Amino acid sequence: MVSKQEQLDILNKYWQENCTCELRKTATQAVFGNGNAESEIVFIGEAPGKKEDEGGIPFVGAAGKFLDEMVENIGMKRENIYITNIVKYRPPNNRDPEPEEKEACNEWLITELKIISPKLIVFLGRHSMLRFFPTEKISEVHGKLLIKKIPELGNKQAFLPLYHPAAALYNGGMRETLIKDFKKIPKALEKINQIQ
Ligand code: URA
Repeated sequence: MVSKQEQLDILNKYWQENCTCELRKTATQAVFGNGNAESEIVFIGEAPGKKEDEGGIPFVGAAGKFLDEMVENIGMKRENIYITNIVKYRPPNNRDPEPEEKEACNEWLITELKIISPKLIVFLGRHSMLRFFPTEKISEVHGKLLIKKIPELGNKQAFLPLYHPAAALYNGGMRETLIKDFKKIPKALEKINQIQ
């Protein structure tokens, strides 16, 4: 049987060659999702930053260090979870990705999620949340477990929106909120296991 990681390797190779995202022209390389393909949780960020563009791994800069701390705080290990971004290439000067850039990377992300088929998808920031919940406000739904049927993903799927670690890094209030919301992840998983 082809493992999930092997399927992801094929997927990444295909999209690396065929993605029409304009950001390919300025980025150093595509930053693939990274971690344990068998994970029950997938974290979705926005787009790679400078360090990620250089290293080819998501969330390895300052925001990534903060993310690692929060992951360890809830008794998990970075190597046991899976992290990806809605856009696989770094936008110049870390600007927000444009709608066409998100669209160009969309099928890559959706197929990635279908392969992993996680119990819980955690949004890191509003950009990834808006991909699936276009009318929600992150200030209103952060830390709340959302259940929704996304036709492209098949069955009902559980989501937990969180503030983006980069936005919360230097904002005391948001940082506290993010740390508090992050601790809801184990409970959210328990709840999902009960209703399944
Ligand atoms: N911010 C993101 O959204 N993704 C990364 O990979 C790094 C920083």
